Amino acid sequence: MATTFPNYINGEWRKAEATFENRNPANTDELVGLFAKGSAADVNEAAAAAQAAFPGWSSMPGPARGALLFKVADILEKKFDQLGEEMTREEGKTLPEAKGEVRRAINIFRYFGGEGSRQGGMLVPSERDRVHMFAIRKAVGVTGLVTPWNFPIAIPAWKIAPALICGNTILVKPASAAPLCAWRIVEACHEAGIPKGVVNFIAGSGGTLGEALVHAAPLKAVSFTGSCEVGNWLHAEASKRRLRIQLEMGGKNPTIVLGDCDFTAAVENVANAAFFSTGQKCTATSRAIVEESIYDKFVEALVERTKKLKVGNGMEPGIDIGPAVDQGQLDTNLRYIEIGRKECGEPVVGGKRLTGGAYDKGFFVEPTVFAGATENMRIAQEEIFGPVLAVMKAKNFDDAMRIANNIPFGLSASIQTSNVSRVFDYVYKMEAGLLTVNLPSAGVEYQLPFGGTKDSSFGPKEQGPAAMEFYSDYKTVYLKY
Ligand code: NAP
Repeated sequence: MATTFPNYINGEWRKAEATFENRNPANTDELVGLFAKGSAADVNEAAAAAQAAFPGWSSMPGPARGALLFKVADILEKKFDQLGEEMTREEGKTLPEAKGEVRRAINIFRYFGGEGSRQGGMLVPSERDRVHMFAIRKAVGVTGLVTPWNFPIAIPAWKIAPALICGNTILVKPASAAPLCAWRIVEACHEAGIPKGVVNFIAGSGGTLGEALVHAAPLKAVSFTGSCEVGNWLHAEASKRRLRIQLEMGGKNPTIVLGDCDFTAAVENVANAAFFSTGQKCTATSRAIVEESIYDKFVEALVERTKKLKVGNGMEPGIDIGPAVDQGQLDTNLRYIEIGRKECGEPVVGGKRLTGGAYDKGFFVEPTVFAGATENMRIAQEEIFGPVLAVMKAKNFDDAMRIANNIPFGLSASIQTSNVSRVFDYVYKMEAGLLTVNLPSAGVEYQLPFGGTKDSSFGPKEQGPAAMEFYSDYKTVYLKY
């Protein structure tokens, strides 16, 4: 019988009145679990509980909050293998990728646990005699955290841990397609002894819960990661009541490949960034912009590399690429492949849903490359969020930079080159929040700021020391002695 995962409000696991299914996208016969379907009333109750818990939690010494975060990390660590397997079963990414993400979540809790003892303010000399002036950091208040399915443990971790260490109390709303990993973090918070009301978890329909969340009276802030459509709606609603808001949204990330690159590494980096995790990373490469001197050779090598990628159930050894997360994402991938066919002709590799045998039980699509794309085509402008790559030809470095920046998004970007001057030109002129050089465009660490620019993002960055900007505020003090 399937396990039912209840919501968590005011330190209690609430009996589910109604549930929804969480199924394995590699094998839809497999029910991963049933999740409580939360209501607007649940959100309001959780917000009230979080408000009641706020004075106690925010006045607890930072190192004591940090000790609880270390405990959460230890609990997650004990379940390391289980968590990796559960992620593969609910989201579809391969087991090594899933375990890497679990490791990242554990590290995030340890990193922000340490911040509990480091939270500094500012101390500067006053112009006035015998005046001591300083600024301290204080928590913001009840904070809503809305997360997507594609990094189902890392993204909840990189919101929950800094929110808590700064002294905020939280409502977590996970993605309906993959809620189990976030539920496991909340379970670990409960087991670690985080006081009741500090952490609340409500799964269910984004529309219903999002509406209730953004209008819940105690709410002071909301951090959202997901699509531009939902993020922009949330922003409009949140702004009406001046909620603090942080948005991390879509991307259409370029990798520029110049003639002087390490060719083999560049092919590998593009294939990795475009197709691993089924192209379902916000930092994935979906546009390869290749200098014309190596364009034909690059396309040929990329096609050969792509043909070697093994698509299948991510639990099986040797699989490189799992399924799309659900029917909706599969349909989006196939729709854009048809758009690409009309705009660009037949893909040079891929282009079909995989069927037959075990493929029939899941949402599998071939990694697909369109060559000869041009910058204004829809497959080169719109986020697909699947294993579909548009390859474009650039005359030279300047032309490649122009094409790369000719887009409303600005999340991540990559360049493959051995020319240091061009690297610096790229670093200063590329309109994206995350840049890589001679690496895939995806694959970030938690110790530095994370987030985009232009239409991809709004508000302070996440992760690293920058995370404290959103989750805390300054209080400035002038003291005459
Ligand atoms: P999504 O459909 O926008 O959903 C994100 C979250 O918002 C889910 O928890 C969803 O709940 C919830 N939601 C839906 N409607 C809502 C509403 N009206 N109010 C409040 N919350 C609502 O995005 P997704 O499909 O899960 O994720 C894919 C997108 O996330 C892509 O665009 C990707 O680029 C982006 N992403 C960005 C980053 C980044 O850091 N920039 C990182 C990862 C992903 P339900 O699941 O119940 O609908």
